[in-house]
Amino acid sequence: MAEQKTITVGTAVAAPGEIVRGAIPVTTLAGGSKVEIPVVIVNGVNPGPVFWVDGAIHGDEPEGPMACAIALREVDPKQLSGTLVMVPVLNVMAFENANRGNPLDTFSFDMNRIYPGRADGYLSERIAWAHSEWMSQVADLEISIHSGGAHSFLAKAIFVDETPESVELAKAMGEGWGCIMSNFLPKGSPMAQMKAIGKTGITVELGGRSATSPEAFAKVSRDLADSIINILRHYKMYPGQATYPTDATRGQQEALLAPCSGIFVPTPGVDFLKPMKKGDSIAKIINIFGDELAELVAPADGMFFGLRALPNVNTGDWCCFFNKVEGKRD
Ligand SMILES: [Zn+2]
Repeated sequence: MAEQKTITVGTAVAAPGEIVRGAIPVTTLAGGSKVEIPVVIVNGVNPGPVFWVDGAIHGDEPEGPMACAIALREVDPKQLSGTLVMVPVLNVMAFENANRGNPLDTFSFDMNRIYPGRADGYLSERIAWAHSEWMSQVADLEISIHSGGAHSFLAKAIFVDETPESVELAKAMGEGWGCIMSNFLPKGSPMAQMKAIGKTGITVELGGRSATSPEAFAKVSRDLADSIINILRHYKMYPGQATYPTDATRGQQEALLAPCSGIFVPTPGVDFLKPMKKGDSIAKIINIFGDELAELVAPADGMFFGLRALPNVNTGDWCCFFNKVEGKRD
């Protein structure tokens, strides 16, 4: 039987059976602080694939880092075949500012639109490039964990590139993860980079600021950590039985925007991931005197997986992510 190898990512070098922390170095800033991306390698004792987890490519999405922290406490390298690499916080300066993008970079602010980055590009492009080079070289499978961040709550939802391998990885997220849509960003994301080099990546969404009460944050982080472990189980990297969604669907995302300004009031009885018919009411916008100004309705048969966190709404503001369901996935 083949022997497991030592795995290197940036300054982290993990022999079989070791958990090692390190960083991917990028550059030094004007004040002398180093820009580097923290990384942890959990290297199994037996050979197998490298599963790579990215969190907080958007700095206002702490669910990914928390999920990595929980999984790190629980995954035992002595029982692992292959390697789990976790980058809990990809966009470090954005995370430190609890901001979607890096405040030191206005030209490539959204890091999920610039992959694989550029070695001689703007600051965030260089950070993306440093990360992308290691991920492309080391990872076999990649998930990028997102949430609704500051602007919304998103229920369990996944974007795939529709290769059979990406759909398999999506289903390996486990029970409850049946809302699987075609990638709305064919370029610029880590998963797009993985596809470009013939590897497999997906984007997953869960959580957001309208659900950051202590219990809610703990619940979504726990669910995401369970999915990390479920993926290890699906690919026979870890002992235990994997679970799967029972009701997986195909579909496309549509963003619903506010036709007018006022207060955003979800319609009683609606819920995330609950099937609805085209034309069903999702929410109303009322003015400050209570007059109904507009109604948001389902643009097709399907379900919504995201709603805005702030009731205050202005014309053109984002209100809802809707999954226009095209059919079941076998
Ligand atoms: Zn995000």
